[in-house]
Amino acid sequence: MNLHDIIKKSRNVEMFTREEITAMLALQPNALETYVIMAEASRISHDVSNSSAEIHAQLALNLAPCPRDCMFCSFAVANNIFHTSATVSPADAVVQARQFEEDGANAIYIMATATFDMGQYFETSREIRNHLRPDTILVANVGDEFAAKATNLVEAGFQGVYHALRLREGIDTKIDPNRRIESIKTFQKAGLSVGTCVEPIGPEHTDEELANMIMFTASINPAFSGAARRIPIPGTTLAEKGIISELRMAQIVAVTRLVMPRSVKGNCSHEPGAVPILGGANLLWAEVGANPRDIKEKTEEGRGHSVPAIRKLFEEGEWQTLDGASRFFDA
Ligand code: SF4
Repeated sequence: MNLHDIIKKSRNVEMFTREEITAMLALQPNALETYVIMAEASRISHDVSNSSAEIHAQLALNLAPCPRDCMFCSFAVANNIFHTSATVSPADAVVQARQFEEDGANAIYIMATATFDMGQYFETSREIRNHLRPDTILVANVGDEFAAKATNLVEAGFQGVYHALRLREGIDTKIDPNRRIESIKTFQKAGLSVGTCVEPIGPEHTDEELANMIMFTASINPAFSGAARRIPIPGTTLAEKGIISELRMAQIVAVTRLVMPRSVKGNCSHEPGAVPILGGANLLWAEVGANPRDIKEKTEEGRGHSVPAIRKLFEEGEWQTLDGASRFFDA
């Protein structure tokens, strides 16, 4: 497949085959063809989002060693990073959420580790909901156990959930891939929009694996898709495999955009960066509190970005940011 055919197919909004997706991913990140694919992805992202990028912001309700042992996560017991647990009080969580709202985040995510007490999660979430504007979009980032409580999430005022089938799920994690897929279906059945992405990408993942995962995310009609690279957690086995470059990220973000249905308006990149914006990323993340990619207890003192810092990144990429509630979750 040559570049002319790729762009023609994209302009005609035709579906790409697995082989074509793999071929786009197999291009060198700094090849002319890759830059053209990135430009086409950027055009689509501008088009479907009315040139309004979004900033989503996440706070964590707890920090705890997690027995699910996802090998890329700093909370995994096996990674031996965190040994004690800490919980954010409802009052502090409200302050963090209101700060995000004041800063202009378009959606607020409430994260907890997989074994966090559900009762506490709902109690704090309700408290947060009660202190936010009614139109502020709330999104849960929680474990598969919450799928059984999907309707409770809706009742607690959540519009969406972030949930992903991770690369090499069941190999690099202790979670059955089918369980992740079932959870996504259950959340959607309850009326929650599901945001997802191709993650966490390391240098060892093949173009075929990435193509399969891009196609999977396209198949679930998500609120947004995109790509996230794996951040090496010092001293871990996966850290030895290294990290992909921002340019490779931009390439994967771009290919993901070309493959997604046009009804999917959001295309995320994580962690945030200027280069993936060139590949059509129109969704980046701010974070406070515990973060599975960070070894600092408060990611705002480590890898986490603030809402104003993300807005600045988008400005540098000549993007305006949405003023108001997320339109990605509207879909
Ligand atoms: S990614 Fe989630 S489930 Fe996996 S170890 Fe980290 S907190 Fe636990």
